[in-house]
Amino acid sequence: MRQKIVVGNWKMNNTIAESSALASELVAALGKGFSGCEVGIAPTYVALQEAGKIIAGSAVQLVAQNCHYENDGAFTGEISTGMLKAVGCSYVIIGHSERRQFFGETNATVNLRIKKALAEGLKVILCVGETLAERESEVTSKVVTSQVTEGLAGISDISTVVIAYEPVWAIGTGKTASSAQAEEVHLLIRNTITKLYGDAAAGKLRIQYGGSVKPSNAAELFAMPNIDGGLIGGASLNAADFAAIIKAA
Ligand code: PGA
Repeated sequence: MRQKIVVGNWKMNNTIAESSALASELVAALGKGFSGCEVGIAPTYVALQEAGKIIAGSAVQLVAQNCHYENDGAFTGEISTGMLKAVGCSYVIIGHSERRQFFGETNATVNLRIKKALAEGLKVILCVGETLAERESEVTSKVVTSQVTEGLAGISDISTVVIAYEPVWAIGTGKTASSAQAEEVHLLIRNTITKLYGDAAAGKLRIQYGGSVKPSNAAELFAMPNIDGGLIGGASLNAADFAAIIKAA
């Protein structure tokens, strides 16, 4: 049995004070001793430290929204794996579609970032997913397969990698992929991993769904055989909603 994993991606939302308040509300909403599934939050970089103090000792782990592939140096606006580890992050999200769409992230740079994160002992959430135009022109499987294959190129151990399937047309739009549509791509991803890494690794890989997950649709999505949790944007900004989604996993 794969343990489900639900992570809140707060994106560019919340000041330090707001992030701390949200983190405390979440810890309270989950209750002491929560152990239903793996849980994480990804606040903005400036809020990581304070949010980290609040979730310390709880079931909630600290997640970063990105990391660079060099140790340090002249990379304005970037953040290193060492900095993220020092602040207590255990996971890092890499290749989110907003990074790919708005900040020039490619499968090649995603691959470099994943290699660096894994080498430094950070666990990785690799995001993949097709745009609406790609879905309509029926290249979803081609796009997702190459994002997975190129993103993981040269990586031999994926035991600390999670893949998040996030159809771009479903992110922040209120349009969720149906559980059947999502399951179809999740199965494709797992089959791709079987080809690359064999049955055992593919059987253990957690594949999250992301894209307008809400308390009302979480249980149905998470019940699908190849959906192992969620990467939650908008709904993770409300502690009660996010806790309800986590409890559905
Ligand atoms: P959403 O975002 O839940 O707001 O659609 C998901 C994500 O981008 O991770």
